[in-house]
Amino acid sequence: MAAVAARKFEFEILATAAGGARRGRVHTSRGSYETPVFMPVGTRGTIKAALVGQVAEIGFEVILGNTYHLMLRPGAGVVASFGSLHGFTGWKRHMLTDSGGFQVMSLGAEYSEQGARFRSIYDGSVHTVTPEEAVALQELIGADIQMVLDVCTMLPASRDKVERALELTHQWAKRARAAKSRQDQAQFGIVQGGGELDLRAESAKFISDLDFEGHAIGGLAVGESRDEMLAAIDSSVEYLPDAKVRYLMGVGDPVGMLEAIARGVDMFDCVAPSRIARHGQAMTFGGKLHMKNLRYQRDDRPIEEGCPCPACAGYPRGLVRHLLNVGEPTAGTLLTLHNLTFMHRLIERARAGIVDGSLGALVAEVRGAWDVRPD
Ligand SMILES: [Zn+2]
Repeated sequence: MAAVAARKFEFEILATAAGGARRGRVHTSRGSYETPVFMPVGTRGTIKAALVGQVAEIGFEVILGNTYHLMLRPGAGVVASFGSLHGFTGWKRHMLTDSGGFQVMSLGAEYSEQGARFRSIYDGSVHTVTPEEAVALQELIGADIQMVLDVCTMLPASRDKVERALELTHQWAKRARAAKSRQDQAQFGIVQGGGELDLRAESAKFISDLDFEGHAIGGLAVGESRDEMLAAIDSSVEYLPDAKVRYLMGVGDPVGMLEAIARGVDMFDCVAPSRIARHGQAMTFGGKLHMKNLRYQRDDRPIEEGCPCPACAGYPRGLVRHLLNVGEPTAGTLLTLHNLTFMHRLIERARAGIVDGSLGALVAEVRGAWDVRPD
């Protein structure tokens, strides 16, 4: 590591709106990025079907890497041999790595006080990750922000199960905070508590006492309704200090994201925009379009009028539909670039809406377009 004094990780609030929304800027040892921010997910060293240069061109300032995948393939040591995940992937701007907690939960991990035990999806080999090892792995991979290892539960879950997961999550958060050694990397704690609002509040108080650089709200968008999700966000945000950045993990559906922004959440990630792109779905301000539909066969309009993405700049809907239906990988690239551009435009409109007071109108507009699903 270069012996340069690291700039303190700071969250600057530029404007606020009624209800708690914040327009902000995060300062780090790499530079700064604007909030609210959506982070595309580069699961295995790349955003699927897009190049990092294209993702930067759209305007994204932060992407996410998955520690679970990178530790198994190619291995954290291999990534570190390129200096960092930045050197390995070619991405020049900010990066955040998750701890792998969500992936190991989805793959049926066993939890003990020591850590999480899980099987590799690649070769079935058994691994155990402790909170301290999750810190060490993320320090080796070297993103700008690392996340603590937590215990996430799918919902609905019994209160007993959520309480047990929370107890471990809190013990592990303390251990992860003590294990952190890199000064040029920020570390975020994660609030859990399932759909139990009193446990969410308790968790937010516990995690904020550990003095992390930022706070995440985890364990949502895992089977609960949107209203249940928003109630859990409210109960968490109420006890998280305003002066630190807030990250809602794994939520990137347009309505859910805007509702969370309106409640004071600043950072988001989600695989959905690129995943549904590869399945032929386009995200637009008019709702979701299923581009394989016969109605687009002779449609010479772009996916969305006024969209500045490479797909809308030169390719008619009829071509996108054709490429999808014959299985050309270029269809996935075109729709990924479009959907990511939509997410960035949505975030830019949310930022402007916080400043000029029109965020509520934007939430209503997008809710109207997306909740009725016109296509
Ligand atoms: Zn477009």
